[in-house]
Amino acid sequence: MAAAITEAWRDREPSLDEVIRKYPEVPPLVIIKTDVSRRGVDFTEAAMDAVDPQRDATLYRGIYTEKKNARLPNGFLLRDGTTIITDLIRGAPPEYNGGRTPYLVDVSGGKVVITDQGRVIEEVVYWPKPDYFDKTTTKGTPMWQTLVARPQRVDINIYQNCDFWKEPEMGCKFCAIAATYHQHREAKREFLDYHDVVETVAEVLKQPGRLRMIQLCAGSILTGDELLDDEVDQYVKLLRLLGELFAEKKVLTQLIATAYNERQLRRLYGETILTGYTADIEVLDEKLFNYICPGKAKYIGYEGWKNRLYKAVEIFGPNAVNTGIVSGVELIQPEGFRTEEEALEKCLAQAEELARHGVSAAQTIFRVAPGSPLKKQKAASLDYLIAFARGLDEQQRKYHLEASFDDYRTCGNHPNTDLMRIA
Ligand code: SF4
Repeated sequence: MAAAITEAWRDREPSLDEVIRKYPEVPPLVIIKTDVSRRGVDFTEAAMDAVDPQRDATLYRGIYTEKKNARLPNGFLLRDGTTIITDLIRGAPPEYNGGRTPYLVDVSGGKVVITDQGRVIEEVVYWPKPDYFDKTTTKGTPMWQTLVARPQRVDINIYQNCDFWKEPEMGCKFCAIAATYHQHREAKREFLDYHDVVETVAEVLKQPGRLRMIQLCAGSILTGDELLDDEVDQYVKLLRLLGELFAEKKVLTQLIATAYNERQLRRLYGETILTGYTADIEVLDEKLFNYICPGKAKYIGYEGWKNRLYKAVEIFGPNAVNTGIVSGVELIQPEGFRTEEEALEKCLAQAEELARHGVSAAQTIFRVAPGSPLKKQKAASLDYLIAFARGLDEQQRKYHLEASFDDYRTCGNHPNTDLMRIA
């Protein structure tokens, strides 16, 4: 039986207003976005009625989402263009996440607003729907099944599963990719069709001003003559096909993938249009990395992961390589850091080592994902997440790092890179 929902959690951590007052140098809209990512959202009937499937981008089927839903928006824009991705922050029952209740999206005065306990926090607009969304490829595949569109970029998730989950207990514990895939296997293909993808990207390019970057991200493929060779083959093939759409040799693109060896990295850089490379270390502590990401630890290792990132900087050049962290997962209990102070100090020290080597970090907020092994854990406090964002931002300025492919204009999912807009 679900635990009773109370609001007692509010007395145990600083409120949104207190955190906004504590960090006057951080835009309040970035703090609101972080808190919405941390607590999640629900929608009133009025907010869902305000979704216009002809005008707004609605929920598609992706690697972390179960099915298309024309009543739910895919994301929000705040007044300054700050992005909130709603498909990543829905769904966790509030009896998890430390009992924290989600924000409620409602309609007030004719505007769609985020509310908390009946109080209007901020106005939002739903992401605009891209022109390709209702079209089909020549094979008859709906294009909404082929690409995911943010306001600024398209995402290609070519492999909808992850090989780490094919070995018992080897997947990253916060990740629901395999749970989502298996739950909806009858509706999902394990691999997207290359030609469907390229045809859809060609269609996106017809819409002026829509596309700033193409991003590729999917689960790991461990097979091949050498570990990960099949994964690299897949991306080389796809990027070369995409390259035929452009006259330029290099096009603003980001690959979020496993940490490759030098030969594989040189191949990707030398043979394709790729400009940006990301290999997510997920957690900035070796012991916790081993526990939370056992597959990555077994096949590559924490130090090995970092060394592959450093090699990527040599190959891709400055400001072209970064790593994603799941901010707050380092506080899971009983394995994680006991206090937020200790976690902040130790993780920022690790982030600084990466930054010294030219690797910036992109902070994604940990929030329990239904179906993942960590589903009963809770997100960090808002105070901690903002202190972490500031710490990363300071380091990235100190080491002159600007991963423009992951900034607020291009990705929009990371509170720390949202701060790059501040002069
Ligand atoms: S590498 Fe880890 S986080 Fe990425 S898809 Fe696989 S299990 Fe999930």
